[in-house]
Amino acid sequence: MSVLIVGSTALDSIKTPKAENPRLLGGSASHAAVAASFFGPVRLVGVVGKDFPQRYIRLYKRHGIDLRGLQVLPGKTFHWSGEYEANMNHRRTLKTELGVFETFSPTLPPAYQASPFVLLANIAPTLQYHVLEQMQRPKFVAADTMDLWLNVALPDLLKLVERLDAFVLNDSEAEQLTGEDNLLAALKKIHRLGPKYVVIKKGSHGSVLSGPKGLFICPAYPLHKVVDPTGAGDSFVGGMMGYLAASKGPVEAHIRRAMVYGSAVASYCCEGFGLQRTTRTTRAQIDGRVRELERLARF
Ligand code: AMP
Repeated sequence: MSVLIVGSTALDSIKTPKAENPRLLGGSASHAAVAASFFGPVRLVGVVGKDFPQRYIRLYKRHGIDLRGLQVLPGKTFHWSGEYEANMNHRRTLKTELGVFETFSPTLPPAYQASPFVLLANIAPTLQYHVLEQMQRPKFVAADTMDLWLNVALPDLLKLVERLDAFVLNDSEAEQLTGEDNLLAALKKIHRLGPKYVVIKKGSHGSVLSGPKGLFICPAYPLHKVVDPTGAGDSFVGGMMGYLAASKGPVEAHIRRAMVYGSAVASYCCEGFGLQRTTRTTRAQIDGRVRELERLARF
């Protein structure tokens, strides 16, 4: 089954202590869409400007990503730049230039409206809501967010969260949202906002799922070297949703394994700048890392 993904489609300029890479293909939707594409068909919803390089369009196409929902408008593509410290867990945003996202209002192609799986990747919650409103009875809807929206658009975000099956956020965002530094207390409060499933991402320490059958602790794949973690969270949730959409039967039966697949794809994302390593990965390699994670976490 298809997964529809809306989010940012961006050019990212990324600086680490070792290297600087301008105008890479980035954005929450790009990372999530490529990650999901290893498992099945993906429909992308986003917007880019006339400056968006054709080679990035070709890259989406190589991954079989349906681009009927990608608008190309006069103006500049969303541009984000960030700088990492020697400790790659610390990142500073240098610039966010919204460009064509400033006036973007996605209208879904009719063929997209019946997509069973929907991932509202990180973007303004009003845009995420607008997409959700156009969907016809989706089977499973998940959304991701970031601290910015908790700061500047909390009422919009809460209106969205009410309608989600799964809300995915990182540990610091969960604390900011609930005022709780205890994970279990934070999870309880987030469930009360609406979602049946809550996934809290903890960066290189993995993630935690809370759902009707209790908790699941999902490991992160241990890496010797992180080159650029930008988009790891988006790859995680993209991989998870791609795997779920490709699995038959109830979500509950597959969601734990889907998270482990998300972890495996996210690990490849961290091993290269932007999408450079992820796009060279194969499904067989991802399966290999999932088997390793299974061995590492069994006791
Ligand atoms: P992550 O590393 O998971 O935080 O995701 C990084 C990605 O988020 C980058 O590829 C950026 O282009 C994208 N991004 C950064 N700021 C924003 C924003 N305000 N809205 C949407 N996407 C963003």
